[in-house]
Amino acid sequence: MADRLIGKRVPVLDKGWIELVDLMPHPESGITGDLAIVNAARVSFLGESKGAERDKKLLFYLLRHRHTSPFEMVEFKFRVRAPLVTWWQWVRHRTWNMNAQSGRYTPFQEDDFYVPDIWRKQSRDNKQASEGALLEAESEDLTRKLNAHYEAGYRLYSEALDKGVSKEMARLFLPGFSVYYTWVTKIDAHNLMHFLRLRMAPDAQYEIRVYATAIHKHFFKSALPWTAEAFDKFILDGGA
Ligand SMILES: Cc1cc2nc3c(=O)[nH]c(=O)nc-3n(C[C@H](O)[C@H](O)[C@H](O)COP(=O)(O)OP(=O)(O)OC[C@H]3O[C@@H](n4cnc5c(N)ncnc54)[C@H](O)[C@@H]3O)c2cc1C
Repeated sequence: MADRLIGKRVPVLDKGWIELVDLMPHPESGITGDLAIVNAARVSFLGESKGAERDKKLLFYLLRHRHTSPFEMVEFKFRVRAPLVTWWQWVRHRTWNMNAQSGRYTPFQEDDFYVPDIWRKQSRDNKQASEGALLEAESEDLTRKLNAHYEAGYRLYSEALDKGVSKEMARLFLPGFSVYYTWVTKIDAHNLMHFLRLRMAPDAQYEIRVYATAIHKHFFKSALPWTAEAFDKFILDGGA
């Protein structure tokens, strides 16, 4: 199962995606991620696997009691394409290692912009959040205007490039929050769970929640089935 995970790419939003580039322990090592966690915990008394049932029980004990360092023995490396609004929230999590595309080096393309499906309304209770949606006709009108805005920004960007302006300056014409970026990023399972808990929560912005949910559904659960089960039970549902 896990070997087929490496290289798997899942579409997210209109033009984004997330792909698993690498995993530690690598599937070819023959050690599952869950077992790497258990073995790391058992180093305390220089032991290793004691069979699936006892191993799983130990892993659940570790997570329930927040004995977190063994979970740092598993690492995920992803390649992500997401709008800058997502990137901006993602980079607040200091435990991800990152390398990003450079807009100073690579020119942006005409369709590198996020177009939402619906326009969410401002939440009444939470000044940061959204709820519900505009009516379809209002949404369509806004989307038309958004696309016109992208076209105008991109035209000015291209004009500036044609005049010999540097890419690092020409990009000032682009609608910043919506432009798609690509980055490579790595995190251990302990800090990934922290990220998932915060960014899968209903108060997280939709544009990052869909990426966190894709990681949980397509990569985390498949790579670490016992850990994911314990995470869902003690952290997602149980709160923490
Ligand atoms: C719904 C939501 C709304 C938000 N709104 C805002 C906002 O309006 N403005 C804003 O600026 N941010 C906002 N944030 C970002 C938030 O404040 C955190 O920066 C972000 O969630 C990362 O959390 P973290 O620091 O726990 O995670 P990480 O940076 O991944 O760190 C993980 C853990 O490591 C430890 N750690 C890491 N670095 C340090 C350090 N230097 N010192 C001490 N401990 C450290 C902490 O225990 C931390 O919890 C929001 C986040 C969410 C989920």
